[in-house]
Amino acid sequence: MSMRVTVNRELCVGSGNCVATLQEVFDQDDRDGLVWLRVAEPPESLRELVEKAVQLCPVGAIEAERRTTAR
Ligand code: SF4
Repeated sequence: MSMRVTVNRELCVGSGNCVATLQEVFDQDDRDGLVWLRVAEPPESLRELVEKAVQLCPVGAIEAERRTTAR
């Protein structure tokens, strides 16, 4: 199982909750304050914090998709 994270900069309002939760994965643009994704496929060990960031985003701009690698 792995995880794929996506962010929607059209929805982001720059609250910074995601960055405060998990700096390894999320960052904010110095110019407009909007979210940037540092890591699109974070390791399993960060899953709980990614899911927390999804919940804390006030506008639902973050999605974390579980991927099953069936091989
Ligand atoms: S928590 Fe949501 S609104 Fe706030 S910076 Fe992150 S993506 Fe943007």
